[in-house]
Amino acid sequence: MIAINGSADVVVIGGGVMGLFTAYHLAQQGAGRIVLLEKSHIGAGSSGKSGAILRQHYSHEITVKLSRDSLKFFKNFAQHNGIDIGFQQTGMAFICHAKDRASLEANVSLQKNLGVNVELLDAPQLRDMEPRAVFDDDVIGALETDAAFVDPQLTLEALAHLCQSDGVDVRQGVGVVDILVNKNQQIEGVKTTTGETIETSTVINCGGPWAGILCARLGIDVALKVIRPQQAYFAPSKSFGREKLIWGDLLTGMYWKPEPAGWTRVGKMSYEGDEEVIDPDNYDEGVSRGFIEFCRKQMGQRIPDYREAISWGGCGALYTVTPDAHALIGEVPGINGFYLVSGFSGHGFKMGPAVGRGVAAMITGADPGPFDESFFAIDRFERGQPVTSAYAYGILG
Ligand SMILES: Cc1cc2nc3c(=O)[nH]c(=O)nc-3n(C[C@H](O)[C@H](O)[C@H](O)COP(=O)(O)OP(=O)(O)OC[C@H]3O[C@@H](n4cnc5c(N)ncnc54)[C@H](O)[C@@H]3O)c2cc1C
Repeated sequence: MIAINGSADVVVIGGGVMGLFTAYHLAQQGAGRIVLLEKSHIGAGSSGKSGAILRQHYSHEITVKLSRDSLKFFKNFAQHNGIDIGFQQTGMAFICHAKDRASLEANVSLQKNLGVNVELLDAPQLRDMEPRAVFDDDVIGALETDAAFVDPQLTLEALAHLCQSDGVDVRQGVGVVDILVNKNQQIEGVKTTTGETIETSTVINCGGPWAGILCARLGIDVALKVIRPQQAYFAPSKSFGREKLIWGDLLTGMYWKPEPAGWTRVGKMSYEGDEEVIDPDNYDEGVSRGFIEFCRKQMGQRIPDYREAISWGGCGALYTVTPDAHALIGEVPGINGFYLVSGFSGHGFKMGPAVGRGVAAMITGADPGPFDESFFAIDRFERGQPVTSAYAYGILG
């Protein structure tokens, strides 16, 4: 016999970008009583440390559309809601080798067909755009003029506020310790760290790096792995000052972007060398000296100034990755009412608004927008049908 301390139509686990956007859209779509449980604080997982770059460069129509529609949402956020989320529309340049021309052109043409402002660039145009940099003649690129970034923590806090205004019961410092399932494999409720049992028939697991652990408690093995990428921060360049544009450089393998505080954030474009994290509650949050040196070396190949850039430290963070670098979203096969929304593989922030709408629509039957759950199907690896991408570089999707 379960002692019930409360009930909800939907319980959302996790106060990251996915949990908050899902709860927000559930409320907008009239899903009833929604409780969002966050074991620590809003943004405690991957979302709070995100670069929150909002680009639309993808190899699939659905991911371009999800990013495109989400970008509009972020752009209009302050105007619609009267809350500043640090939206800055800087544009983003992608660079690759001419041998990847077919992939680049395919992505650019896909984007253009879907209404994205993007132009191909040759080496002389790249040199004009970034005079500090070195571009060999066989380097090509694309400039996505509407690409932007937001301040992740401001965004998450604004969202939590909107959720609460719409009646969502957002509880921080309350973790889910157990998910209750009856003998018919139907969700019955959750048990929390405060000793409460909340009765519900629908649980949405937006637990980010902890999502796989929650599934494992129900005996479900999902294709999620947690890794630790590092980010390095550098002082503005001596000769140029603050970075103006976001860059994704497939040749040096690095991305870099301006941060609101003036420094430049630098990270890798791949997962190579990132160590696996078994316990996301206990991982190294620091940046190693080796990684800082690595960034100087790689960035220095493109912009020689960075060989001597002043380090302002950095951080270790968490990505939840899948074998094909795309998320797992949908009702978990075998358990009615248990939904998984995780595995965004280091590029999920930008899609939060449109994914949240689609996930909420799976529950309410509302219009999902461009979201299509079959693309993110949880069982696609077992079926031997992973998503394939134009580039060999997973994080770019
Ligand atoms: C360094 C870094 C840079 C990135 N840069 C970009 C970028 O530029 N652009 C982009 O689009 N994406 C980027 N990403 C990826 C993006 O940030 C993630 O895909 C996204 O934040 C994942 O959000 P989430 O809500 O799924 O998970 P999380 O943000 O990790 O949220 C999960 C939450 O669930 C909570 N939780 C877990 N278990 C429980 C439980 N049992 N009970 C209650 N609460 C629980 C956790 O405390 C956590 O707050 C980056 C990520 C990192 C780490």
